[in-house]
Amino acid sequence: MNRIPLIQRYSLFINIPAYSKLVTLNEGYTPLIPLPHIAIHLGGSFHLYAKYEGLNPTGSFKDRGMTVAISEAAGREVQTVICASTGNTAASAAAYASRAGQKAVVLIPEGKVAAGKLAGAVAYGAQVIQIAGSFDDALEMVVQISEHHPIALVNSLNPYRLEGQKTAAFEICDELGKAPDWLCLPVGNAGNITSYWMGFKQYNEYKASGLPHFLGVQAAGSAPLVLGHPVEHPETVATAIRIGKPARGEQALQAAEESGGKIIAVSDEKILEMQRALASEGIWVEPASAAGLAGLAEEIKQGAIDPSGKDIVIVCTGHGLKDPDIIVKSMPAPQKITAEIAALEDLILGS
Ligand SMILES: *Cc1c(COP(=O)(O)O)cnc(C)c1O
Repeated sequence: MNRIPLIQRYSLFINIPAYSKLVTLNEGYTPLIPLPHIAIHLGGSFHLYAKYEGLNPTGSFKDRGMTVAISEAAGREVQTVICASTGNTAASAAAYASRAGQKAVVLIPEGKVAAGKLAGAVAYGAQVIQIAGSFDDALEMVVQISEHHPIALVNSLNPYRLEGQKTAAFEICDELGKAPDWLCLPVGNAGNITSYWMGFKQYNEYKASGLPHFLGVQAAGSAPLVLGHPVEHPETVATAIRIGKPARGEQALQAAEESGGKIIAVSDEKILEMQRALASEGIWVEPASAAGLAGLAEEIKQGAIDPSGKDIVIVCTGHGLKDPDIIVKSMPAPQKITAEIAALEDLILGS
């Protein structure tokens, strides 16, 4: 099937300058996958779906924003783009910049970047620089350097990133025929929740598609928006949301409030439990991407959300292959046998 690039498909709703030069890798068009068993397990009679953003070209939703940010930069003949990243923005910026013939520079925090993400940035040819500091330190540095040099910032502070990321909201409305009742998603630097809210509101204005309530979910060790203050040393297995000072924190809080929803925190244990639950329905996501479901499960358990009869979408932001470390570490060694049928029969059929 010939896919029209998102920028053209939703041209009416995406604010991108006329001088832009289209740079695309056929991002978007991700499936909305029903999760009937998890819905039953959560105790409700309702429709639960995963918006599986891990199926984007570089394995996360970041590609939706990057196609717009890089297309705009390409239109200005920008030679170099820069971002701070916990991993997925780096891989996405690297891929789209390469495609546009631009150089990508990515700053990553010390230590905690998942192997699959780092490898991606390197494979696509980015200059990867690790700084002795946090994501938040890295973001401050790239903001400063892009203010003083002809280098384009492609973090979600770049408004074109948000323009592109709105398209996930449009796709969900197109597929369901309306907005869902609840949208549950992880919140890190808070660009995504901000984009979704912009997208749903815009579509509602044009198409009366309705508005969902938002359940934004942070990890307990990295929950500035729940605590109400920055977190100096954020800690969580969900490295994609290991951010102590979200750049779009205010907008995230506003989106949650306007939607009649909220932002909550969940434990790493719950996140990993829901990562396993999703895998049991055939969807392997990186830990951060299970946070939306973890939050929903907690809210239903506490009676704070009654899912009965509702359409609920959880956003699975990135693919499990990006961050296999946690699985690999907890994995039992494979069982070993001799290369004989009898040995295999013994093992799997019992004797
Ligand atoms: C970037 C990212 C997030 C967080 O999105 P924000 O826009 O920073 O809130 C969550 N999950 C994954 C997999 C990501 O790559």
